[in-house]
Amino acid sequence: MFCSLTFTKELDENEEKYLSTIVKETIDTQACIDDDNTNPGYVLLLKKPDVDLYQKAVTKIVTLDVVQNILHNQQAMFEGYKNGRGLIGATAAISWEPLDRTFELIAYRPQQRWGAKRQIDLKSVQQMDTNCPNTFDNYDARNHHNRIVPNSPCPILYGIRGNDVDELVIASTQVKSEPIDSWLLFETNQGTDNHLQKKQIAQIQPFESVIIEGSVVVNPFTIQGGHVLFTIKDATGTISCAAYEPTKEFRNTIRGLHIGDFIEVYGGVREHPLTINLEKFEVKHLITQLVKTENPVCPSCNKHMKSKGTKQGYKCIRCGITSFTPIIQEQPRTIIKRFYEVPVCARRHLSKPLKRMNQETRSVTALYSENECIL
Ligand SMILES: [Zn+2]
Repeated sequence: MFCSLTFTKELDENEEKYLSTIVKETIDTQACIDDDNTNPGYVLLLKKPDVDLYQKAVTKIVTLDVVQNILHNQQAMFEGYKNGRGLIGATAAISWEPLDRTFELIAYRPQQRWGAKRQIDLKSVQQMDTNCPNTFDNYDARNHHNRIVPNSPCPILYGIRGNDVDELVIASTQVKSEPIDSWLLFETNQGTDNHLQKKQIAQIQPFESVIIEGSVVVNPFTIQGGHVLFTIKDATGTISCAAYEPTKEFRNTIRGLHIGDFIEVYGGVREHPLTINLEKFEVKHLITQLVKTENPVCPSCNKHMKSKGTKQGYKCIRCGITSFTPIIQEQPRTIIKRFYEVPVCARRHLSKPLKRMNQETRSVTALYSENECIL
């Protein structure tokens, strides 16, 4: 997570230096950076970098060199720890100008509880999920996954995501848990689909996240490990799409697709082999699936004809009349024209849940913490 704080008042150089000292001291004394994947960084800037930096960082790859150049050019105060890549996210977070946004209320544990097993009443989380319709990704009932609780031994007790800051404050009062030390509200790009780009298949690059329209050309099939794959095609090429095992019941939905169906898929691109890892998809057109149910009936004898062999047609054994047309019926489809998404337990942070589709949170009413206003 990258956190950016904006001041309503312009700071002078001395104030900036003072702030930088506080930030540095806090990181030096408080941060746990031993984990291989933890590469933090802090950045203090008097002027926002161009929003293009955010766009590029969220949809493509931005190198550390590019970001360090921007920071040097703007006389930023900054420090990257370990491999320094945290500077990329920190700088990109400052350049963000949200067209859509969500919020997360993060509740913290008292220091003496850090690392101890978290005490949270699961029923109260389920109840909060039902009572607070503007929150999302709280709880996955089918897969028994409590998404508001992190797995790491960090100081966070839980984080509730939602569109409405007032409702988030109410939601947090409904979660029954061990005592919390404090809480803060963050404005975030979670659940916004900011990472996705609408493309044609021939333009797809590895590690991007894309929205692609196409027809199914290879029926879904299951491979070892329970992953389900199928292939789509547009005017520019074909690409494999996957619903991996962790997407659980979503794989059954995928199995309902058939050659000829026209869909739009949303997901991240894996490099080898080039595959779209599905986050959600929209069924735009379903073909009519016909299946043979019976051999044809002889029009004069009123009895079923016999098959003459593969692709040889049918023949009445009484009068000798032949036919090539069996009795067919429309196969009921298991899916309909609508969106389908992976369950909460498999959701990526940036992926927009269906309950947020066609809904953007543009305005901020008030952002506040337990004790003070933060914006
Ligand atoms: Zn007959």
